[in-house]
Amino acid sequence: MGIAANDPLSYHNQRKPGRDDPQGSLEFLGFQRNHLGFRVLVLVCHTLTLPDCGEIRATICPMPSYRTEAIVLRTHKLGEADRIVTMLTKDRGKIRAVAKGVRRTKSRFGARLEPFSRVDVLVHEGRNLDIIQQAELVVSYGQDMAIDYTLWTAGQTMVETADRLTSEESVASESQYVLLAAALRTLTNGEHDSTLVLDSYLLRSLSLAGYSPSLDACVVCGTFDAAFFNVGAGGSMCADHRAPGSIAPKPETFDLLKALLVGDWVFADNASLTCQKEVSGIVAAYVQWHLERALRSLPLVDRSMTGLSNG
Ligand SMILES: [Zn+2]
Repeated sequence: MGIAANDPLSYHNQRKPGRDDPQGSLEFLGFQRNHLGFRVLVLVCHTLTLPDCGEIRATICPMPSYRTEAIVLRTHKLGEADRIVTMLTKDRGKIRAVAKGVRRTKSRFGARLEPFSRVDVLVHEGRNLDIIQQAELVVSYGQDMAIDYTLWTAGQTMVETADRLTSEESVASESQYVLLAAALRTLTNGEHDSTLVLDSYLLRSLSLAGYSPSLDACVVCGTFDAAFFNVGAGGSMCADHRAPGSIAPKPETFDLLKALLVGDWVFADNASLTCQKEVSGIVAAYVQWHLERALRSLPLVDRSMTGLSNG
């Protein structure tokens, strides 16, 4: 049963704002953010018996925060001293967050939030942009990249691809994160040829995103050992179904593509230079086809040195 509007016994009908209720009424004006990024509740107090209290500001609570592991994909300047850092996280997909004061000499973040750094971050959730509160370095691959142009272009192509293939809508992409972390580690420790590592990363990241190429069967009829490859069609094509623009790679090239897709490094490391070059061309074309815009870093990758020791 509801409250009768004219019930003289009703507690609610006895109260007179400002006289019986010394707190008066509070008018909600909204939320603002203070310099630390905390939400501030803004109210105006109206009373009849007391002088108008005017505006009341109260920090109600810190914004919700979360801790996650992330790889820095890119950064860009914001204002005088801040940076917006784009990161691929282990469990929250891709995020963009502000690192305040990061460009000052005495920044508490130091050089931890540079591209290719793997970091453990504490982030406050903001309405528009999240704010990085703490950043601990797990490992930095940037220093190795900075002194070797071949590594840098390969690493740059990797982070750019990861950036393109992941969304900012908190869609978890742990497999993409794990793949990128492993690829950057393998690239910098020099275990395998950098172009092979890059091509393997590109094939696998596209596959995780749903663009796995068919390397065995014709994409139209399913016939095995299809001898042609068509980038737009998504992989192998038989002689009957090959679309215009198909190429006819060597059988060994198909084998190397498969090896890079599954991580058969014994096979990959021993592949011929001709074969590696053919694979690189196919992978580059395949990646460019499936990403909406061309990768800026990929044309910079110097593939002329690929597999010299195996040639
Ligand atoms: Zn066919």
